[in-house]
Amino acid sequence: MTQDERYMREALKQARKAYALGEVPIGCVIVHQDKIIGRGYNRRNTDKNTLAHAEITAINRASKKMGDWRLEECTLYVTLEPCQMCAGAIVQARITEVVMGSMNPKAGCGGSILNILEMPEFNHQVQVKRGVLAEECTQMLTLFFKELRVRNKLEKEAARERALSEQIPEKKKEESVEMKGKMEYNKK
Ligand SMILES: [Zn+2]
Repeated sequence: MTQDERYMREALKQARKAYALGEVPIGCVIVHQDKIIGRGYNRRNTDKNTLAHAEITAINRASKKMGDWRLEECTLYVTLEPCQMCAGAIVQARITEVVMGSMNPKAGCGGSILNILEMPEFNHQVQVKRGVLAEECTQMLTLFFKELRVRNKLEKEAARERALSEQIPEKKKEESVEMKGKMEYNKK
């Protein structure tokens, strides 16, 4: 196993924590001098916070550990290509290298939609490696979305059944009111 694969496995471990919370499984670690100085995983729904992406959490932790907003000489490992916010934060933090697992053609800003990490116009460019343990990273995401679709389908069915079962007594109630009305009318 290469060093990149070893740290990507650590990022995958973080992604599994997100998965366990029912979050899109994305994990990240930041490495400095062969030591992990920051970890993070997606908690956007759990924390109800747009900023709770894996990379932002890992950057926060790493900065705290380094006592510096600059994360020079650091490598960030992330299981999915960063979004525009995280790619921006990576450039802002002056991170030296980013190693990513799966690409994200619908939202990625590390080469898919934009390549914020390597724009020559910015004052900092990041070295980028793509496709490290891509298969495992993709598999976890694919499984998550497959299960999510099943869950959504089951929930929809359950909601429909609930609606149906609520409708029946509702109807019975109406009938009985109607009957009572008739009976009272008959009494008069
Ligand atoms: Zn992000």
